[in-house]
Amino acid sequence: MRLDELGEFGLIARLQDFFRQDDKRIVIGPGDDCAVLQIGESFLAVTTDMMLEGRHFRRDWLTAREIGARAFVAALSDIAAMGAVPAFALASLAIPGNWTAEEATELLQGLAQEAESYGVSLVGGDTNAAPAAGAILDIMLLGLCRAHIWRRSGAQIGDAVYVTGSLGGAAAAVAAKNAGLRDVPGWDCYARPTPRVEAAARLNPLGRVHCAIDISDGLVQDARHICECSHVGIVLHAAHIPLHPAVPQIAAQLGTEPLLFALTGGEDYELLLTASPEDCEALNAVLDIPLTKIGAVVPGDNVTVLDAQGLELTLPAAGWDHFRNI
Ligand code: ADP
Ligand code: MG
Repeated sequence: MRLDELGEFGLIARLQDFFRQDDKRIVIGPGDDCAVLQIGESFLAVTTDMMLEGRHFRRDWLTAREIGARAFVAALSDIAAMGAVPAFALASLAIPGNWTAEEATELLQGLAQEAESYGVSLVGGDTNAAPAAGAILDIMLLGLCRAHIWRRSGAQIGDAVYVTGSLGGAAAAVAAKNAGLRDVPGWDCYARPTPRVEAAARLNPLGRVHCAIDISDGLVQDARHICECSHVGIVLHAAHIPLHPAVPQIAAQLGTEPLLFALTGGEDYELLLTASPEDCEALNAVLDIPLTKIGAVVPGDNVTVLDAQGLELTLPAAGWDHFRNI
C-alpha cells in the first residue's frame, strides 16, 4: 500500500504497535498533543513538532524571524493543549547553504524571542545543512503539567464544546495569498500566530476543563480526535463558530464559503475544550480572549456540523493529512 493511501494517521496507528506500554512512568503515550511522563513527583509534557519549507511555510511569504517563531508556536500550542507550563526546548534545524548567515541568525532570533516570551529556556538542539529543497525546523518542547492534565480522552457526554479566539483567519490568508491577492487582510494571524499558553494558565487552575486539543490541523479533523479518544460524538453549530474578522472579506473576494476556512482550515493554533455548559461564564471570567460555546458532546463516534436551521452540513474531506495533501 502506498503511504498516500494509508495516510498520516494510518501510519501513526501502525507505529503504535512498536511503543512500550508497560513502563509505569508513561502517563500518556502517543496519541495526544503531548506525551506525559512521570519523573519522581513531576509530570512532564513532551512534544516535538516539525516544520518543512514547501509544506508548512514558503520562504517568500514569511521573514526568517517569522519562520523561526511559527515553528516554536506550533510546539507551544501542543503544551498549552495539555494545560501545561512550557519550560525547556531543543531546536533542531536543517538550513540550506544558500541562506545568508544573517537570515539564519534572524531565524534563531525568532525562535529565541518566542522562547523568552513564554519563559522557555532553549537548552540545545542540532544543526545541519538541509538539501536544497528547503529548511526543516524541529522543536522539541518540555513542559511541566499543572494540577489538571488535559487529555483528548476526557470529554463527557453533556459537555459543551468551546473554542478560544476566532477561526479560519490563517487558512483564509493562505488562500488569499495563493489567489494572488495583495494586502491580505488578517495576514498577521497566519504569519505571527499566538499560542494559547496564557489561556491555558488561566483556565487550568479552575479544574473545570474536561478535555482539550489544539486545532492546528483544522476544527473538524481535530474534533474527530476527541471523538476517537473519548468515545463520544460532537455536534458543532456552524452559526456559533467565531470567524476571524478577515474571513468574510476574503471569502467574498474569492467566491468561497467563509465557514469552510473555519471548519477545515488549520494553523489558527486555537484550543478546543470541553466543559460543563454551566461553566461558560466561569471560564470566560478568567480570560482576556473570547471563549465561545460552539457545540456539545453527545453519544456517538463522529463530528456533525449543523447549520442555523439544524440541518446537517456535508463537508469536503476535512483537515490536514501530511501524505494526502501533496
Ligand atoms: P499534533 O498535531 O498535536 O502535533 P500529530 O498529529 O503530529 O500531533 O501526532 C499525533 C500523535 O501521534 C502525537 O501523540 C504524536 O506524538 C504521535 N506521533 C506522530 N508521529 C509519530 C512518530 N513518528 N512516532 C511516534 N509517535 C508519533
Ligand atoms: Mg496538537
